[in-house]
Parts: sequence; C-alpha cells; structure tokens
Amino acid sequence: MTGFQPFPGAAFDRCGLNRQHVFDLADLPPAVAATLGDTAPFRQLILLGHAGKALWDCVKAAGAGGEHPIDDFTVRSIERCFAEHLPASRFRLVYPGDHPVGLQRLGTLAGWHHASPFMVGIDPEWGTWYAYRAVVLADTRFRPFPAVNRSSPCTSCPARPCITACPAQAMADGSFSLARCSVYRLQPDSACTATCQARLACPVGAAHRYDVDQLRHSYSISLQTLRQIHRPS
Ligand code: SF4
Ligand code: SF4
Repeated sequence: MTGFQPFPGAAFDRCGLNRQHVFDLADLPPAVAATLGDTAPFRQLILLGHAGKALWDCVKAAGAGGEHPIDDFTVRSIERCFAEHLPASRFRLVYPGDHPVGLQRLGTLAGWHHASPFMVGIDPEWGTWYAYRAVVLADTRFRPFPAVNRSSPCTSCPARPCITACPAQAMADGSFSLARCSVYRLQPDSACTATCQARLACPVGAAHRYDVDQLRHSYSISLQTLRQIHRPS
C-alpha cells in the first residue's frame, strides 16, 4: 500500500482511547478474521483501547451515565473522530457489538497482551490497567502499525505477590481456577465484589491503577454476569 494517510492518534488520545493499533485486514490470521463477520468493503481494522485513568476521566467529564457509560462514550468519541478527522472514510464498529471478536488475540498480535496468572492481560508499561474498547473496520489507508515488542513482566517476577494476595487461592494449583474465583466473588462478604485483590497486589504499572469508582464500575459488570450464570434455576 502506498500514499498512507496520517493516523489521527492525538484525536483518539484526547478521548482517552490512548492505545491504538492499525492492521490491514488482509494480514490477519484467518481464525481472527473469521470472528469479524463480513468485512467488505473495508480494508483495515483499528483496535482501540484505554490504558490507565484517562478514559474514565473523560467519561466523568462528559457526564456520561446509563448502563454502559464507557461503551456509549467510546462509540460517540469514535464517531466524532471520524467525522472531524476522517470525513471521507467509511467505517463500522464490530466491537462493542454482537460479534464474538477475539479481542485478546488481536491484543496479542498488537503486542499488548501477555496473560497474567489471574488471566487479565499485562504489559510492562501499563501493568494490567488497560482494556480493549473498540474494534473498527474502515476503508482507511493508514500505514499498518508494527507490533509492540515487550516481554511479559511476569517472567521476571519471582515473588508473584498476585498469587498469594488472592483470597480464593484461585492460582494456588499453578493455573487459574475461574470456578474458585467466581464462587469467592459471589460470597456476601467477598473482598472481590468490586475489585480483584490479586490485580491490586501487582506492582507493575501501579501508577496507572484505576481509582475506586472505575474499579467498582468494571467489576460490577463482571459480578452481574456471574450472578446471572450462577442464578439458581
Ligand atoms: S505480581 Fe508478578 S506474576 Fe503477578 S501479575 Fe504482577 S508481574 Fe505478573
Ligand atoms: S477477583 Fe479475587 S478471587 Fe478472583 S482472582 Fe482476583 S483476587 Fe482472586
């Protein structure tokens, strides 16, 4: 591809969507492309994430409410960025949405994702304090981004304080037990109703740790899902 157009990264940064990666759709592994549904007539995939507290600050400043304030703010921000900076480009969001998009697989291809012992993605700069916010198909002509080349911080963390901090001992057997974690989180006196003690114990990227409100928001969503799954029939 020649004649690349400039990527409006600063515009996405201003909305708190401060992790960005551009793929050419033609370069994606078939298994990843298959999770996107029909990608015609688009040429590129833009993976957007947030890291640290910036997005939550933007959501609060915008007064966003409702059941999904982060998703709603993200979608509005992307629509505005395209309208203001890429008015000639067509685009479609596949996440947030109904497609079972392989977010962690895309994150791995971008070099963002390494699995921590508690299975939340981690990288040396942000720790576990980042998340995938949007997958956008676009007929843009950006230069594809090279993968970030960072190794997992867990490989140089012999003390592994996250494992001992977990009150459910969900990692005590050498792998992560989602069942133990879930049962513990659903207990009335759980210390993980609105947070993850293992995640808080990790020293990597601690300066980017979410504030209490942001933690409560993201963990209340997963707790609600757990309650639905484990509801007595
Ligand atoms: S405490 Fe160590 S092993 Fe645990 S997630 Fe953090 S870096 Fe990885
Ligand atoms: S949410 Fe709680 S129980 Fe689950 S892994 Fe984190 S610390 Fe352990």
